[in-house]
Amino acid sequence: MKLLLPHLTCAILAVIHLAVPANAQTSEKAVGTSVADFAFEKTLVAPLRIHLLNAAESPALSTTLTETDITRILNKVNRVWSRAGIFFYAESVVREAPVAFTPLKQTGDLRWLLGLIPESSYNGEAFNVYYIKEFDANGVFLGKAIFVNESAALNAVEGGIDEPIPRVTSHELGHALSLPHRQDRTNLMASGTTGTLFNENEIALARERAAQFSWIKPASELLAKADTLQMEGRADESRTLYSRLAAMPGESEPLLRIRRLATP
Ligand SMILES: [Zn+2]
Repeated sequence: MKLLLPHLTCAILAVIHLAVPANAQTSEKAVGTSVADFAFEKTLVAPLRIHLLNAAESPALSTTLTETDITRILNKVNRVWSRAGIFFYAESVVREAPVAFTPLKQTGDLRWLLGLIPESSYNGEAFNVYYIKEFDANGVFLGKAIFVNESAALNAVEGGIDEPIPRVTSHELGHALSLPHRQDRTNLMASGTTGTLFNENEIALARERAAQFSWIKPASELLAKADTLQMEGRADESRTLYSRLAAMPGESEPLLRIRRLATP
């Protein structure tokens, strides 16, 4: 089980590397410029529960991010992940105190972060992303949750993203979707850089993993549900669904229609 391994970030990846057939890693065609253009219907839609941790006892843990920041961050995450046809939305943003105050440790073992999670607000049908002011890594995926360091620092690479937090969030979501590291500086899965690119193999792997979660749905299915709710006169429920989809990057015909319907 990955959580038993000592150096989690690398260890998880070592496990995943073993799971990937050698020949599956040979496809190195970058898709950064010739972006795989996923139609709206093929986009997979994944919920995130965003947790903003605040502890009066520990300014080092307390994020200063606001909901406005989260909207900006997710918009950037979604521009990155649109290349893989995966869209993330915040099903909710929770501001909460961590369960336990744990001092920062410099051991390289980041599992202490799991002790901060309040169980009552954990969503078992979403990726849970915890934003923390500062800890001893840019970010980490610990199986149960993603932790992102608000103070993350990255090495800039050509064509890279302009802000660390969306890149770290996107990178850890890559791990959550089974992607291993690939130390090719401009890639999303390179360690510690501003790169955001995927190769075709990574896109296929991430989509395959996403399709295994019962709570990740094709956009076409969610749109059909929204349309049904609208036809049934359940306006608030349909608008909630349209609004969720409306933030998807792109200007396709279904998206333009969704944005019209999402507007009250
Ligand atoms: Zn990583």
